[in-house]
Amino acid sequence: MHAALKLINRRFQQAQPGATGSPGTPLAPAATFTYLPGTTALVLDSPHSGTRYPDDFGSACDLPTLRRAEDTHVEKIYDFAPALGVAWVEAHFPRIYLDANRDTTELDTTLLDGEWTEPISTDPRVLSKVRLGKGLIWKFTDEGEPIYNRLLGVDEVRARIDRCWRPYHGAVQQAIEAAHARHGYSIHINCHSMPAVAASHATDFPGLVHADFVVGDRDGSTASPALSALVCEHLRERGYSVEHNHPYKGVELVRRYSNPAGQRHSIQLEINRRLYMDETTLAQHPEGMARLRADLRALVDRLLTTDPR
Ligand SMILES: [Zn+2]
Repeated sequence: MHAALKLINRRFQQAQPGATGSPGTPLAPAATFTYLPGTTALVLDSPHSGTRYPDDFGSACDLPTLRRAEDTHVEKIYDFAPALGVAWVEAHFPRIYLDANRDTTELDTTLLDGEWTEPISTDPRVLSKVRLGKGLIWKFTDEGEPIYNRLLGVDEVRARIDRCWRPYHGAVQQAIEAAHARHGYSIHINCHSMPAVAASHATDFPGLVHADFVVGDRDGSTASPALSALVCEHLRERGYSVEHNHPYKGVELVRRYSNPAGQRHSIQLEINRRLYMDETTLAQHPEGMARLRADLRALVDRLLTTDPR
């Protein structure tokens, strides 16, 4: 699976828009993700920084509206990581097209034009994201604007899952398994960013002014408390304000592949966008970027010498 994923990735990477092919030969679809295998116990993934908007999206919103849902530039903040032997998985599909940080059972079936025959969650806690319009396929933007003025085909949604969700999750799982097999433990950081202030329809805490960082381990269930404390402490030592599990506890990607008792640790790390970008123009703040990169590089260095056992 490892080799196959790399192969798939390489094939897609060669077929980016602008690549030349034989006349009349349709290009293969653009890559939906990148997976760079590592050599260390550390795995980083960025599920929400994708900016390749597929032609079949069929959204009613314009591109600037859709782009507000991205964790823009997160992949650039961590671009030092692969050279350190850290495994790296990055989604290229936009989060508002399919949210990889959800289970496939978190689907709002009122979006569909037909019957969904696969399992759907009935757990009210799991469905809290669906109620906000933020399930596997989003219904509303963070500002409460409907994303579609049409119903989605059942096959259309299945195709998104097959093309985006399955390979992305396969890569994250493979990276964690490989890290754990090599070292007897794995540390997975699920990389995100958040707006300075929670929007009206984004979370259960509209209008909340966010800290600089939010460290999430689903109330201690996805990573050892000592490891989460180390991450919080590292960031506080550098002058940042840090919240732990509020308002973001971590979602599917830290839940699904973690098992702290079995030395598989997963932590969600949310960075406040005001630290590194203009949220209206999406332009980077070069100084903020440089500082964040240095501080997160130091965190990664520290985690590379941390054995949580
Ligand atoms: Zn995110």
